[in-house]
Parts: sequence; structure tokens; C-alpha cells
Amino acid sequence: METILFLSPTEAGSPLSKNALEALATAKQLAEALGATFSVGLWGDAPNADAIASCGAAKFYAVTGAEFAQPRYATDAAAAEALARAAGATMIIGPSGSRWNRISAGVAHRLGGRADGHVTGLSVSDGAPKIARWYYRQRMEGILSRIQRPWVLAVESGIAPAWQGAPGTAAVEAVACTPTGVRSKVSGIESQAADQQTIRPDAELLFVTGAGWTKKQPDGQVKIAEAEKLILGFLRIARASLGSTKSLVDLSGEGQSTLPFLTHMNQVGQTGSTPRHAKGLSTCCHGEEPHTVGWRFIGERRAISLDANCGWARGKADVLYVADAFAVMEKVNALLAQKTGA
Ligand SMILES: Cc1cc2nc3c(=O)[nH]c(=O)nc-3n(C[C@H](O)[C@H](O)[C@H](O)COP(=O)(O)OP(=O)(O)OC[C@H]3O[C@@H](n4cnc5c(N)ncnc54)[C@H](O)[C@@H]3O)c2cc1C
Repeated sequence: METILFLSPTEAGSPLSKNALEALATAKQLAEALGATFSVGLWGDAPNADAIASCGAAKFYAVTGAEFAQPRYATDAAAAEALARAAGATMIIGPSGSRWNRISAGVAHRLGGRADGHVTGLSVSDGAPKIARWYYRQRMEGILSRIQRPWVLAVESGIAPAWQGAPGTAAVEAVACTPTGVRSKVSGIESQAADQQTIRPDAELLFVTGAGWTKKQPDGQVKIAEAEKLILGFLRIARASLGSTKSLVDLSGEGQSTLPFLTHMNQVGQTGSTPRHAKGLSTCCHGEEPHTVGWRFIGERRAISLDANCGWARGKADVLYVADAFAVMEKVNALLAQKTGA
């Protein structure tokens, strides 16, 4: 019989991330489908399982210590290994993210198991657990199983609703762990200010900008400053994630006037990313196949384009507004500001 272990690092004073709660829900569902034992393992300087006490886990395990607070391979991998051994886990499920993705293969190796990343679904057939993964730039979905155990999985965000339930008091079993070979010391974290960070995987909405924002408009003018103001203004109020077409992010390389906050990290499509958001709004973009293939996992799709015959119009968007995105977004921003008081 399988023993399923949900594993996650914790950060002092913070609840588990949405991504971790989604992975927890996925692990719990799999355990129920298999009739398997289900446990939870956490590590950090003060891991607390009270918020997820009612998740149905038979046991909660924790590795605790100041050294486990820092995101670092040696301590994260040692903690995960110790927790997996304590739980006798045959399947270990963690949330995709820099900490778990960095250690999952190493943890599988230490345990003599196998690892798979980018897992987008778990199911059971013929009594055996199966995982879903996408291949060939999200064009083909593969369903696979493995006979080796433990099987260590990194589960993508956005594939299941986050676990929700009443907090309580979890009886946590302490697991001893003495990491070796700790050479790295985290001296601080440098990151963009929250408002400058435009890629937000947890956002409800993906807002995509196309090259049209930088093109001559019907009045013969290029309006880069206005475009920047409208796009950043919308992102600030809507907290949307910013995607872009390839044409737009390529412009800077061609020496043309462009939007400075866009990089190739924002690019969505065949040679870009394939994000997951409940909704998407495309602006000033033609909706060509190499771009829209990156919208595979976007729920409701809308687009604003001047071209009534663009790719979006040919079945790629649920709603196409044939309109000037400058005018539409100005009005949208004004309405949002009115509504939110921002
Ligand atoms: C091998 C390969 C891989 C590729 N990979 C990718 C990829 O990963 N991602 C990607 O995005 N592309 C990719 N492309 C490029 C893709 O085919 C398109 O060229 C690109 O997506 C077009 O970008 P765009 O729609 O922003 O620009 P354009 O085609 O120039 O379209 C601009 C649009 O803006 C509209 N517009 C202008 N002004 C306004 C306004 N005021 N209001 C409303 N609409 C307005 C215009 O009507 C037009 O439809 C790839 C191409 C190849 C060959």
C-alpha cells in the first residue's frame, strides 16, 4: 500500500503558500483515491501545522531549526530526506517553486527513488497512481506511472483548488535532522519591489500586451509614454500578471522604442511561457498561433484589437472587442480607480 507524504518548507510567521495548499489538496485527493496513508511533513525555523490540522493527515512531521529557515540546498534536502524516511513515504508530493524544484531530484536520489517535475495532474487507474505531464512545448499530454519508489513529485501551481479547512491543533512529531556539508550562507534576498514585479503566477488575470502598443496609431503618432502609463496603471490596480507577445519583447533588440518593463520573461507562446490563469485579456496583439499556443491553460479569453479579422476573431478568443485599446484601457482604469478608490 502507498504512503503519501505532502512536503513543504515553511517561512516564519507565514501561512503555507497558495501553491503549497494546492499541492496539499492534490496529495490528499490521491491518498483518498488510493485508500493510502496520508501524512504531512514541514520544515523551517518554527513550522506550524495548526492551519492545516483538519486536512485529514494521519500524522504530521516537522524538522525544526533556525538553519532550516533559509532556502538552501543542503538544509532543505536534508530536512526533506529526514521527513520522508520518518514517514516511510512511497510517494512524496511537493509544490513546484524554487525550493522544492531545486531539491526534489536530489532527495529522490538519496532515497533511491525517482523524481518527476512539472506534474499537472494525478489520477488512479487499475489501482496504480498515474501522473500527467505536458511534452513538446505543451502540445502533448503524457500520462505515466513508475514502479520505483519513493516517487518524488513537484506539482505545478494552478492545477487544483487550494486546500481549505478549519484550523485546529495539530499533534506534530519532531524529526531529528543534522544536515552535513552546509557551505552556503544566505546573506539576504534582493528582489524587485512588489510593484515592479510584473510576473505574478498567482494572479487571477493574465494581461497581455502586443506590439500594437508601440505602433503608429490612427492619428499618425507613436504613444509609448501613454501606453506605459495605461499598462502599468492597470497592473497596479488589477494586480494582474503581465504577459507579452514575442514581437513586442523583441523590439528592444532592434533598437526601436519599446516598453522598458517588458523582458523575454514576459513572453507568452511557443517560444515563451504557458502560464495558468483563470482569465486572460490580450491587448494590441494579433493573436497568431505561435503566440496563442501559450494560452492553452488560460480559462476565459478576451482580446482588444483594431483588426476585426485578427487571429483572436478566428476562434481563439471567447470575446473580441474590435476597438482602440488605448481608449478602452483608459476607460477601464478610470472605472477601476473609481471602484477601488485607488
Ligand atoms: C518559430 C516561431 C516562434 C514564435 N514564438 C512566439 C511566441 O512564443 N510568442 C509570441 O507572442 N510570438 C511568437 N512568434 C511570433 C508570432 O508568430 C507573431 O509574429 C507575434 O505573436 C505577433 O505579435 P503581435 O501580435 O504583438 O504583433 P503584430 O502582429 O504586429 O500585431 C499587432 C496588433 O496590434 C493591433 N493594434 C495596433 N494598435 C492597436 C490599438 N490601438 N488598439 C488595439 N489593437 C491595436 C493591430 O491591429 C495588430 O493586430 C513566433 C514565431 C515563430 C516563427
